[in-house]
Amino acid sequence: MTASWIGIDSVLRDIMPVIASEALLHNVTVNWDDQMELPRVLADAEMLKQVFLNLCKNGIEAMTEGGTLTVRGYVLQTGKSSRIIIEIEDTGPGIPPQLIHKIFDPFVTTKQNGTGLGLSVCQRILHDFSGTITAATRDRGALFKVMLPC
Ligand code: ADP
Ligand code: MG
Repeated sequence: MTASWIGIDSVLRDIMPVIASEALLHNVTVNWDDQMELPRVLADAEMLKQVFLNLCKNGIEAMTEGGTLTVRGYVLQTGKSSRIIIEIEDTGPGIPPQLIHKIFDPFVTTKQNGTGLGLSVCQRILHDFSGTITAATRDRGALFKVMLPC
């Protein structure tokens, strides 16, 4: 693992073709701004690709009847520190309430062929770069928020 200053916008642009074809197969519309420009973060681009691929794939898989996957990014300034937030939101059923506190634990899965490792890997990678990840259920679907210092 090697950290360097990388643009999250270009990390997202790199994986979008894969996400788009996966979405097409599941009748999912992807909503994101390909002109998005975000400050750089100190991280490993390949690792971050894995994080966002896992999150987008989970969102798409959750929408068994199709829907919309939204990816947005913005900067949050609190005092002297600024953080990049990337949100991945779907319009699926949301996270089962009894699971919300353990979905980041390894081997927790509700899928027949799931490993339950995706989210625990995401969390570990983000921690390695001083980032965090949170999950919530919205009125419609799940919302994952990735935060990284920038
Ligand atoms: P896997 O995808 O192999 O099941 P993950 O660690 O990626 O493992 O996800 C763990 C579990 O969290 C999933 O099985 C699912 O129950 C729940 N989950 C993850 N993402 C979503 C989502 N977008 N909507 C609803 N549930 C989700
Ligand atoms: Mg997964």
